Amino acid sequence: MKINHNYQKLPGSYLFSTIAKKVADYSREHKEARIIRLGIGDVTLPIAPSIVKALHEAVDEMGDAAAFHGYAPDLGYAFLREAIAKTDYQRLGCSISADEIFISDGAKCDCGNIQELFSNEARIAVCDPVYPVYVDSNVMAGRTGEYDADKGTWSRVIYLPCTKENGFVPDLPKEVPDLIYLCNPNNPTGTTLTRKQLQVWVDYANEHDAVLLYDAAYEAYIRDEEVPHSIFELPGARACAIEFRSFSKNAGFTGVRLGFTVIPKDLIREGVSLHTMWARRHGTKYNGAPYIQQKAGLAVYGEEGQKEIQEQIQYYMRNTRTIYEGLKEAGYAVFGGVNSPYVWLHTGEMSSWAFFDELLDKAHVVGTPGSGFGPEGEHYFRLTGFGSYEDTVQAVERIKKTLALR
Ligand code: PLP
Repeated sequence: MKINHNYQKLPGSYLFSTIAKKVADYSREHKEARIIRLGIGDVTLPIAPSIVKALHEAVDEMGDAAAFHGYAPDLGYAFLREAIAKTDYQRLGCSISADEIFISDGAKCDCGNIQELFSNEARIAVCDPVYPVYVDSNVMAGRTGEYDADKGTWSRVIYLPCTKENGFVPDLPKEVPDLIYLCNPNNPTGTTLTRKQLQVWVDYANEHDAVLLYDAAYEAYIRDEEVPHSIFELPGARACAIEFRSFSKNAGFTGVRLGFTVIPKDLIREGVSLHTMWARRHGTKYNGAPYIQQKAGLAVYGEEGQKEIQEQIQYYMRNTRTIYEGLKEAGYAVFGGVNSPYVWLHTGEMSSWAFFDELLDKAHVVGTPGSGFGPEGEHYFRLTGFGSYEDTVQAVERIKKTLALR
């Protein structure tokens, strides 16, 4: 019997468990400290009323023999796929049809599973820093080569540094990748690529036969007209891109679980349709997102739902603005935060983890060390707008009082 030894190549403990342990240890030793958590990527507001109503109604249907639903269609209910195609794509002028949308239980699974469609020889490129799922899922599949613990990099991964020096816009790589992961707005930096900057990647992918794996989990936070809401707004994207979307950050579904992936039928590699491959994968390994969740998803697209989720997004963005402006006043170099719920700050000479400790000790505020997202995240730190407004204001006041640089 042999296990998959690629799992053992995964380095260290998971970032958020290390943070949780440090915070628990600190709280035990400092019982008086009221700790404010601005490190989380999880939402805190409850599900909006019209969506809760849809959940209740769907639960009632499940208890009624005449309205009961068993296995959902593998690729999702038509009512939800059509609402998505119309609202998220056709309204923006993207020619995406309902049958190019695959409903799932969230973007994390899809981002992690998509690599199955590609050869083990495929070279991946990722932004650095980056959402860890892209790299780790390829490590598990044995595609990333050897890990260099000193550098924090994998020998077969092509890294695309995103730092303040390049304005968080990755340069095209010297080696040509097969798969390019792009997250826009990006987690953790909170920064974005404009339509023009993204077009460079679409053209590059088409020219080199690469596939763009485009994660738009934070699309709902985009305010800037120059930043596209979908990669399919760009000419040429239908032939080279797959888009991942989530209901987690726009509608608070982190605990409900719902997402979708868009694979255009024009996306062909080696003469094979990736749409057909993913449909086959879904049919074999996935039994469909639950009816109850999909009905709740439909409510997100209702008139009431759209209004309610916008109010929640505004709430989180007010928090994000409070952090961004407060840190700037305190003398920090801050990035992101305009089209995303994440503020990315530079920690100066201090390492990301040293800043974590200092912030916890002096301000009793928890954030996320940038180095946990990749080597280029060292000397950066992530704070999020997902807390309560009152806590956010207080956290910023504490930072200004105890950790101001000027
Ligand atoms: N993609 C990015 C970039 C994320 O930051 C997250 C969650 O934090 C996800 C995907 C996961 O989304 P979901 O909750 O739909 O699995």
